[in-house]
Amino acid sequence: MLHIVNSFSRMGEENAFAVLARATELQRQGKDIINLGIGQPDFQTPEHIVEAAIKALRDGHHGYTPATGILPLREAVAADLHKRFNVDVSPDLVMIVPGGKVTMHMAILMFGEPGVDILYPDPGFPIYRSMIEFTGANPIPVPIREENGFAFSAEETLSLITPKTRLLIINSPANPTGGVTPKSEIDKLVKGLAAFPDVAIMSDEIYGQMTYDGLQHQTLLAYPEIRDRLILLDGWSKTYAMTGWRMGYAIWPQKLYDAARKLAVNSYSCVNASAQFAGLAALTGPQDAVHAMVAEFDRRRKIVVEGLNALPGVRAATPKGAFYAFPNIAATGWKAKPLASALLEEAGVATIGGPDFGVHGEGYIRLSYANSAENIQKALGRMNEFLVTRKPD
Ligand code: PLP
Repeated sequence: MLHIVNSFSRMGEENAFAVLARATELQRQGKDIINLGIGQPDFQTPEHIVEAAIKALRDGHHGYTPATGILPLREAVAADLHKRFNVDVSPDLVMIVPGGKVTMHMAILMFGEPGVDILYPDPGFPIYRSMIEFTGANPIPVPIREENGFAFSAEETLSLITPKTRLLIINSPANPTGGVTPKSEIDKLVKGLAAFPDVAIMSDEIYGQMTYDGLQHQTLLAYPEIRDRLILLDGWSKTYAMTGWRMGYAIWPQKLYDAARKLAVNSYSCVNASAQFAGLAALTGPQDAVHAMVAEFDRRRKIVVEGLNALPGVRAATPKGAFYAFPNIAATGWKAKPLASALLEEAGVATIGGPDFGVHGEGYIRLSYANSAENIQKALGRMNEFLVTRKPD
């Protein structure tokens, strides 16, 4: 009899991968499936980035790199943050990791244990809660509300902090809602956090370059008063269409950096060397492809929102960031998960049920508009026919 430690029974999942597997299986059976489930850009990684990785391999970059990443890349991250936000970040606090997810894994491992609270957005990226539960800490959801434009409320967040709170996770622009929290609200949160100096903050800004309607992304790095307890999560996956390369970075406060480095040394050693050179080319090369991708997402965003609002019983807020729409489907009479499942099995449209992102996700489904405008139109047509003809289970 094998005895795996108990904490694994509390570890969750990302249902988007299960939906992807089911959609792929249905496609294999010959069904025509439009996938609006998975959260990854449908573009190719720009050519000059791919070439940089090939060149790195040809140049002999086949070995281990420092656990925290190659220095030119850490310098490029610092320079990029300076260029985008006019903030000073030492390359010594930059850590290159295999995907944005690794930073949340490390941060939650560092702060989570039985008896402590960790606050996280709900609905939110499912791995936050999964990892919190894995550590035995109490997961405390911060509700993200449609009536608040899917922004988090500083007041509500601060009201949930107790002497047991060790870590606060925030995410803007947000998955799964596309919500962007306004600067005024972030100002308020940071001001309020002065009363809780023992609470660390992890700001997941992986969609930071994907905002619309002229909205500027507000980074938490811009607040010097919390820099000694701020962990910034960002990476290349979404911005440069590099999800499969596994390239992310964190900015750690000085006093946590060595713990993060040790976690790397004790698990993956370092990020694939050639991928790091690709990441360097991404940051230092032309940014036209990024701007073109964001412009295309913006175009599709309008199609999705307009189409969703024309469906019976569906109400969709206009997302201000990322590439997700999170329509309210309560008035269709369906619960969210059965609806997502029936849409996939019967209408050939893959979406994700809101409850896969937390209890506050009931009544919503998530659609990723990382698919062609043509497919999105087709999917909306199928959803319309489904909702008109099919009675709820
Ligand atoms: N954070 C959020 C909010 C995400 O939506 C995702 C991916 O979907 C990640 C982090 C993880 O990104 P990566 O693929 O780089 O690990």
